[in-house]
Amino acid sequence: MLLARTALGRELGPRLAARLGVSLLPDCVAVALDADGALLAERPVYGGNVLARLRSTTLPHMASLRPKAYAPLPPDPSRQGEVVPFEVDLDAVTPQVTVRQVVRHDTPGVKLEDARVVVAGGRGLGGPEPFRLLEELAGLLGGAVGASRAAVDAGWVPGHWQIGLTGKTVTPELYLAVGISGASQHLAGCAGARVIVAINKDPQAHIFRVARYGIVGDWQEVLPALLAALRARR
Ligand SMILES: Cc1cc2nc3c(=O)[nH]c(=O)nc-3n(C[C@H](O)[C@H](O)[C@H](O)COP(=O)(O)OP(=O)(O)OC[C@H]3O[C@@H](n4cnc5c(N)ncnc54)[C@H](O)[C@@H]3O)c2cc1C
Repeated sequence: MLLARTALGRELGPRLAARLGVSLLPDCVAVALDADGALLAERPVYGGNVLARLRSTTLPHMASLRPKAYAPLPPDPSRQGEVVPFEVDLDAVTPQVTVRQVVRHDTPGVKLEDARVVVAGGRGLGGPEPFRLLEELAGLLGGAVGASRAAVDAGWVPGHWQIGLTGKTVTPELYLAVGISGASQHLAGCAGARVIVAINKDPQAHIFRVARYGIVGDWQEVLPALLAALRARR
């Protein structure tokens, strides 16, 4: 039984596992079956510094997977599933929690999780204003803007922009990291990107070890040049 590690999955998974008396392999980034048919899984632990390998020993096997941990397969209409209607009498359930309000974050443009291009900024930007440049860059590339936790914690950008272990996981075609050092907790949310491009003034920054292309320089010089080049191409 596979669940998504979304807010709903995080509430549902442990409760369901407890009711069924089985173990749940939570927050996984990879799952497979071994030769005996047991479920194997990998999940980041200790702030993303270590990958733990888990093996489920109870049936049914249950795991929750980080959204975007896998790229979706192309649709195959020959594979069909059976839909079983299931009558549920919710009136018979005594609610323990009442939902008072649902607040939606309406983000204009492309959703961060679905974006094919993500332009992310970090502490190196030095404040909230430079994020306007990142928004313009993302607009020109048809992408969305994200941020490191340092930028979120500083109050420069909203929390739902955060990428990483305690933020969102993104797997875009292109991930442009500006003023981000490349801490393991940040990379936990973007390492699955097809191409990472980093702009950082420190040639020793860890982000350059994972980036396919690196620009060693001050964003204050690099970003305007990049924006001018993209505007000219349009
Ligand atoms: C349990 C736990 C969970 C965490 N979860 C997350 C998470 O989900 N996401 C996350 O991002 N972090 C997370 N962190 C924090 C993480 O460890 C780092 O502290 C954080 O990612 C650092 O953010 P940063 O790269 O923006 O800042 P810094 O590490 O301060 O890096 C700033 C970079 O900007 C560069 N720079 C400075 N000025 C310029 C300039 N003018 N031009 C170009 N480059 C410049 C610097 O050389 C430096 O490399 C977590 C930490 C813990 C302990």
